[in-house]
Amino acid sequence: MANVRPVLIVGSGPAGLVAAIVLRLNSIPVRLIDRSTEYLTGSRGTGLQPRTLELLEGLGIPPNKILESSRAISDMRAYGGPDGKTVVKQFRMAESGNYNDSVPWKTPRSIAQSVTQTLLRNRLEELGTLPESGTELVTFVQKDGFVEATLRRVGADESDVEILEAQYLIGADGAKGPTRKTLGLAFVGETKESDRLLIADVETDDITPDYWHMWGSIQSQGVGLKPLGGNKFQMQVIGPDMKHWPSEGRTLKDIQNIFWEISKRTDIVFNKCTWITEWRANIRLAEHFRVGNCFLVGDAGHSHSPTGGQGLNTSVQDALNLSWKIALVYKGISAPPVLDSYESERLPVIAEMLNLSTAIHTRAFQKSQAGDQPASLDEKAVAAASAAAAESYQKVMHRPATLHQLGINYRASRIIYDERSPADRTVEAGNPYSASPDGIHAGDRAPDAIHLVRIGGSEHQRLFSIFGPEHHTALVFSPSSEAAKGLVEHLSTKFQPHVPLKTVVVLPASSVSTTVDGSALPSDVTVLQDTDGSAFKEYGVAASEDVNVVIVRPDGVVGGYISSIDGVDEYFRRLEVAI
Ligand SMILES: Cc1cc2nc3c(=O)[nH]c(=O)nc-3n(C[C@H](O)[C@H](O)[C@H](O)COP(=O)(O)OP(=O)(O)OC[C@H]3O[C@@H](n4cnc5c(N)ncnc54)[C@H](O)[C@@H]3O)c2cc1C
Repeated sequence: MANVRPVLIVGSGPAGLVAAIVLRLNSIPVRLIDRSTEYLTGSRGTGLQPRTLELLEGLGIPPNKILESSRAISDMRAYGGPDGKTVVKQFRMAESGNYNDSVPWKTPRSIAQSVTQTLLRNRLEELGTLPESGTELVTFVQKDGFVEATLRRVGADESDVEILEAQYLIGADGAKGPTRKTLGLAFVGETKESDRLLIADVETDDITPDYWHMWGSIQSQGVGLKPLGGNKFQMQVIGPDMKHWPSEGRTLKDIQNIFWEISKRTDIVFNKCTWITEWRANIRLAEHFRVGNCFLVGDAGHSHSPTGGQGLNTSVQDALNLSWKIALVYKGISAPPVLDSYESERLPVIAEMLNLSTAIHTRAFQKSQAGDQPASLDEKAVAAASAAAAESYQKVMHRPATLHQLGINYRASRIIYDERSPADRTVEAGNPYSASPDGIHAGDRAPDAIHLVRIGGSEHQRLFSIFGPEHHTALVFSPSSEAAKGLVEHLSTKFQPHVPLKTVVVLPASSVSTTVDGSALPSDVTVLQDTDGSAFKEYGVAASEDVNVVIVRPDGVVGGYISSIDGVDEYFRRLEVAI
């Protein structure tokens, strides 16, 4: 790849790492830089949603590694009483979605962001790339069809710079990075100086790691210990009456005193404090995510409250949505206008994410009398205050299943195509964060199905083991291999190998004893039987119907519902593929 301009990714947080993995899987040259000289050590974003967990698996991070490094979100315990030892309430925070096998990860998991980033970095290293730590983007200009970026090693002389010509620049440089500012994009929203969180990673052996423990009142001043694995906890101090302790210069002793002051649990002693930070509400959205060959992903394009645990998860989906499109354009398979769909697909999702997380934030930071220190130390008054505080913790900490991000959809996108809809533009767009329960449509998350078997084989195969960020997958649902022949041949002669595309014929279980041997089809086509009918069901196709092609995009989204050769062409035309 000598003399080929790479894609420059600025920032090796979750967004930058995911973008780099997807581009490397697509054999695109990448430079991934980060101004920080050290990798993140703090727990920061600790909640991974079910959609993110399956997407990480799709990037090639083995599920056992995710499981080993994370834990199920614990039940919460709100304590009260004069010594903070009485469990006043125990409750489940995250709503369960009651999912079937089409959703492999059924609940969110707790994992320190530093560990998530290590998993991503290790995966990237397997693909032959590592972030260049201690290298910062100073500035850049857009030239005719490329970007000229000025980079500098941190600590180097002002004039000691590298000028890099990059085909594209992906700004994954967080809310404070230079990409958005250099592009002159407004960051619309507000900063609330009064809404702050103090966060510290602590270690203690004096309380069970089986629960997320909370003391005080979220509506005045509260403190929580969220288990991170072993004896590690993320301590969070929250509430409208929180004293604005600056985090800088704080020591283990300060953190311990703050904890004792609010919880009254002087029996809990911290052995270690490895990270301290202070978060201030800064809720904003960039006016655009694209200017020419430059893009914003993750926190560089949107800044939000950590309430609801959406930020890191959103960064992952931003990066995934953009990177496969850049790969297609970089290789000359799609024309550049397809890149406009990154902003048009992601902006409505981000706007809704800001609505959801801000609503939870507002509830959390609203001043109320509930749980305030009781006027007297009378036993009854203390118990009543503790009960009120626990009640409001439960209310504020409740997390609906919408936050699992499985319902995020691009039904209104102009690059998806649903031939079943007479109006062409699929169904009413609806909520971009939660697909309506009227069946699956183009633009929705592509579900898994786990009981598929190769013709002549017995081993079960998952659809998720076939999808991948480096190719489209055409699932040809057909009553028989014979019936699928016309569409399959069209896909392979017209689009392969030019467009990275895997074709999979899915046959109903009932076809086994009659027509099936798959020999009517090209040898590179996988033919699977849907032994329990779940693939047909999840994709909303009746086994008796004519042939239906469901095209799954590299980001695991259904791009098209198609039943004709013309429909296949139309899908790829929308992707700006020359036909
Ligand atoms: C207290 C707290 C709790 C949170 N809890 C959750 C949660 O439970 N779930 C969740 O999903 N999210 C959570 N988040 C949010 C989550 O941490 C962020 O949304 C996430 O880190 C964003 O990832 P990113 O890759 O977009 O940006 P970042 O992680 O901010 O990465 C940006 C990178 O860019 C680098 N950079 C900046 N400027 C330059 C430059 N000039 N040159 C080179 N590199 C540069 C930085 O060094 C940094 O490494 C929480 C955040 C906080 C603060």
